[in-house]
Amino acid sequence: MIIAVASGKGGTGKTTVAVNLALSNSNTQLSDCDVEEPNAHIFIKPKIKNKELISIPVPEVDKSKCDGCGRCQEVCAYNAIAVVNKKVLIFPELCHGCGSCGYFCPQHAIKEINKEIGSVEIGKRDNLLFVHGKLNIGEAMSPPLIKAVKKHVNPARVNIIDAPPGTSCPVITSIEGSDFCLLVTEPTPFGLNDLILAVEVLRKLDIPFGVVINRSDLGDKKTDDYCSQENIPVLMRIPFKREIASAYSKGISIVEAFPEYKKDFQELLDNISKMAKQNNRR
Ligand code: SF4
Ligand code: SF4
Repeated sequence: MIIAVASGKGGTGKTTVAVNLALSNSNTQLSDCDVEEPNAHIFIKPKIKNKELISIPVPEVDKSKCDGCGRCQEVCAYNAIAVVNKKVLIFPELCHGCGSCGYFCPQHAIKEINKEIGSVEIGKRDNLLFVHGKLNIGEAMSPPLIKAVKKHVNPARVNIIDAPPGTSCPVITSIEGSDFCLLVTEPTPFGLNDLILAVEVLRKLDIPFGVVINRSDLGDKKTDDYCSQENIPVLMRIPFKREIASAYSKGISIVEAFPEYKKDFQELLDNISKMAKQNNRR
């Protein structure tokens, strides 16, 4: 089973929920796909056993063959290549490695070279398997790295995917193929606004989902009202507690600091499993 944990905005407690879910079951794998800012390892503290460098193919032009025709610029959907005064300029940070420019170059002047974008690290802590991606600083192309992390999804395990915040391409790459998605939100106007956007995405992707309301005793009731109107199950509420915030700031998970919460996260996992089965996902 694959459970993605996502949120329409950052800072809602998404990683907290992903980490505590992973620590509440003895057969889990946690994959941190928030590759621009992976921080699940701070709480898991895994022993890293393997590291893979991840590259994407980007074009390189053989100037002796290029006649400056401009066809490569025309076919690039990502504005990653421009021809100015018959000189080809490549912007590797925008390149998606699709290969169109090389395929359509009439002079066969383009070859592909590998550009490293980041790394995937694989490790474990006790029985918990752990994988995360780390995007190189200044690199913008996270989806290929997220796909490299997801290649390690283990069908024999309950896979928890910590997705990046937001609703953009990296989020969709992270959550597609999941059996269930947990949306973590907070009961504030900003939280609700971003939750509504995330719900739209999940409905388009046809992935069953439910909501966790973090800091549930702060803010207003509008998030509850919205979920009720839209028939979205609220699967867990985590009240604000100074002790939880303090443990978080020290890199300690909720279930380690307060073991009485473990049964709540186990129950959450059981409910997700039932809902995924009802939706014929498992
Ligand atoms: S398509 Fe090929 S020949 Fe034309 S400008 Fe681009 S690299 Fe040069
Ligand atoms: S490989 Fe694709 S994205 Fe990259 S420059 Fe060529 S056409 Fe553009």
